[in-house]
Amino acid sequence: MSKSKEKLKHSIPMPKQKPEDRIHNFNEVASGYTKEQAIAEAERCIQCPEPQCIKGCPVELDVPAFIKLIKERKFDEAIQKVKEANSLPAICGRVCPQEEQCQKFCTLGKKWDPIAIGRLERFVADLELQKGIQLPPLSKRTGNKVAVIGAGPAGLTAAADLAKLGHEVVIFEALHAAGGVLMYGIPEFRLPKKVVEAEVAYVEKLGAKVRTDALIGRSFTIDELFKRGFDAVFIATGAGLPRFLRLPGENLGGIYSANEFLIRMNLMKAYRFPEFDTPIKVGKRVAVIGSGNTAMDAARSALRLGADEVWIVYRRSRNEMPAREEEIENAEEEGIQFKFLTTPVRFIGNEQDWVKGMECIEMKLGEPDESGRRRPIPIEGSEFIMDVDTVVIAIGRTPNPIIQRTTKGLETTKWGTIIINEETGQTTLEGVYAGGDIATGEATVISAMGAGKRAAKSIHEYLMKKRKSTRK
Ligand SMILES: Cc1cc2nc3c(=O)[nH]c(=O)nc-3n(C[C@H](O)[C@H](O)[C@H](O)COP(=O)(O)OP(=O)(O)OC[C@H]3O[C@@H](n4cnc5c(N)ncnc54)[C@H](O)[C@@H]3O)c2cc1C
Repeated sequence: MSKSKEKLKHSIPMPKQKPEDRIHNFNEVASGYTKEQAIAEAERCIQCPEPQCIKGCPVELDVPAFIKLIKERKFDEAIQKVKEANSLPAICGRVCPQEEQCQKFCTLGKKWDPIAIGRLERFVADLELQKGIQLPPLSKRTGNKVAVIGAGPAGLTAAADLAKLGHEVVIFEALHAAGGVLMYGIPEFRLPKKVVEAEVAYVEKLGAKVRTDALIGRSFTIDELFKRGFDAVFIATGAGLPRFLRLPGENLGGIYSANEFLIRMNLMKAYRFPEFDTPIKVGKRVAVIGSGNTAMDAARSALRLGADEVWIVYRRSRNEMPAREEEIENAEEEGIQFKFLTTPVRFIGNEQDWVKGMECIEMKLGEPDESGRRRPIPIEGSEFIMDVDTVVIAIGRTPNPIIQRTTKGLETTKWGTIIINEETGQTTLEGVYAGGDIATGEATVISAMGAGKRAAKSIHEYLMKKRKSTRK
C-alpha cells in the first residue's frame, strides 16, 4: 500500500489523560487535537462530490466545507462556517454521538476509519474560545418577542437562531444556571462547565436574555407569558424526571437516582467538598443500574469520588448498550466492571436502613421487543446477592409535567411528551412550539439542537406571516 493510502486508513487518535491518572481527578479526559493533528486529520477528508456526512447531521452542518478550511489552515473561517449551522460547537464536538450521525455516513468510513468530524469541530471551536468569540452579522430588530422555556441545547439553539433573525428573546430557566443536562448532568471530565458557560455567553451576546430561577408553570403560566407581551413561545423543558425500578427496599439510604447523584456532583460541586459544602456520600462498592450515557457518567463519577469497585449492572448484553462506544471504552479503561444479563429484584438494608446488598437475577435474551433490542427474560433460580453500599439508578428519565398540566389545550402523548408537528415544532396551540426531549423523550444533544433550529425557523415564519396579515 502506498504511503498516502496508508495515511487515509486511520484517524488521528484523540490525546487523553492516562486512565490511572484520570480516575483521581475530575479534569477533562480528552485534551483535544493540536493544530498539526487537526490539519493531518482534515487532510484525510477526500471532499466527496456528493457528501453524505451532511445528511447525518440534524443541524445540517456543511462538514466538507469546514474541514477544507482547516486543511487550508483558515481556522477563523472554519469556525464561522461551523457556526452558520451550530451555535454550540465546542459542546457538540465533545458529546455528540458522531459515530451514529455524520461519521456514520462518511464515505471513507466504508473502508477505513471515518473522518473524526467531532474532534475537528471541537478543535476550531476551542481555538475560537481561546482567541475570543466573533459575532455573526445580526438582522434588523423585528419588534417581536419570543419566550424560550428551558436553557438546554434545544432552547439555546432556538434562542440563538431567533436572536440572529432580529427577535427579542428571553430564555426562562428553572435552575440557577443555564445549560440543561449539559450543565447539571454531564460531568466535568467529559464536558467542562467553562465550555458550557462560554457557549451560553455566546447565545447571550447574540442578544438572547437568560432569566434563571424562573419555573414556568409556577412563576408564570404560558398564558401569562402571552399577556406579558410575548408573541410566541418555544417549550424546551427536556426530560428531567427520574425513572425508578419500583423494587422493595428502593428507598433505603445510599440509593440515588442518577439525576440526584449527577446534579449534586455537577451543579452543587459535591466533588469539590469541602470547598463546596454540599458533599455526597459514596461508599466503596457501587452498583449503577442501567447502561446509557447517564449510567457511564454516574459510574465514572463514583470511581473518582473514591469507590473501590464500581459495577454497571445491565439486563441485556454489551451489544445492546445505548451509551456511546467511546464512553463505554473510557469506562472499561478506567476499571469499571460490567455485570451483563443481570437485574436487581430487591435491595437489602442494614440496621441503619442503609443499603448493604442487592438481590439480582440473571437474564437471557429472547426475541426483539418494540425498541428493536432483544427482550431480557429472567432465568428462574439464578438469584444471587451482590454486596454493595451505594446504588445509582440510571434507567431513564421522563418529561417534566408542570407545563403540560398548567396549559389548557396543550396536547400530550400517553408518555407525557408534548405532541408537535415534527417539521415545524408547532404544538396544538397557536404560537406555541416545542422541541427536544420534551417532545421526543430522552434523545441526544444534537437531536434537541435540530429541533430548536426547526422551531426557530417556523416561529420566524409564523411571526412574519402574522405581521403581514395585521398590516393588511
Ligand atoms: C447524564 C446524561 C448524559 C448524557 N450524555 C449525552 C451525550 O454524551 N451525548 C448526547 O448527545 N446526549 C447525551 N445525553 C442526552 C442529552 O443531554 C439530552 O438529550 C439533551 O440535553 C436534551 O436537550 P433539551 O434541551 O431538550 O433538554 P435539557 O437539556 O434537559 O434542558 C431542559 C432545561 O429546561 C429546564 N426546565 C424544565 N422545566 C422547566 C420549566 N417548567 N420552566 C423553566 N425551565 C424548565 C431544565 O431545568 C433544563 O435546564 C445525556 C443525558 C444525561 C442525563
